[in-house]
Amino acid sequence: MSDVIYRVNEVFETIQGEGFYSGTPAVFIRMQGCDVGCPWCDTKHTWTVALDDERSLAEINQPSGDRQRWAQASADELLVLIQSYQAKHIVITGGEPCWYDLKPLTAKLHDQGYMCQLETSGTYDIQIDERSFVTVSPKINMRGKRDVLASAMQRANEVKHPVGRQSDIDALDALLVHCPTEAQIALQPISQQKRATDLCIQTCIDRNWRLSVQLHKYIGVL
Ligand code: SF4
Repeated sequence: MSDVIYRVNEVFETIQGEGFYSGTPAVFIRMQGCDVGCPWCDTKHTWTVALDDERSLAEINQPSGDRQRWAQASADELLVLIQSYQAKHIVITGGEPCWYDLKPLTAKLHDQGYMCQLETSGTYDIQIDERSFVTVSPKINMRGKRDVLASAMQRANEVKHPVGRQSDIDALDALLVHCPTEAQIALQPISQQKRATDLCIQTCIDRNWRLSVQLHKYIGVL
């Protein structure tokens, strides 16, 4: 049995709304803790791991409603929660899930027939089972002053880049030299802004990349 303990904000089932697996039924595991400091972050309640916010495992097995909270869970305990849902696609997100060694959890899930997808900022080492699909959403020059790691870009199966303006695309270009050529590239307009969306659409057409539109925000699910 693995002795890695994860701090988890919530576990819930929904439709993956972003990137390559958009539209796929999925169980989301949202880890607590992040120090990257993106100003437009829509999960700021995951940033801090405060002792007062510890809850039971049963309590985090439902959407948090953006509450700052967490429960300790081992890989075995998370597997039991996941088995109560129908989806076979597991999205490990945050917060910054690469605060944790994800190998024990993802190896166990793959062995049980699940497909794991990681969503990470690329600013921490990625410790994950080799069968997992890694989505790096590189967070460049954020307030936490963490660099995007070349090793994270090299592990990416997909690069899903948040875009507000042209300089964001220029910054992405500088990172793509580290990526495998087969990695999928998707641009995601920040906060559904019209100008950003238009820029992403034109760039995707010009460069044969994909558009990621945060489908869940348009259809009104978590
Ligand atoms: S890396 Fe993710 S969770 Fe952390 S601040 Fe940025 S958007 Fe928020």
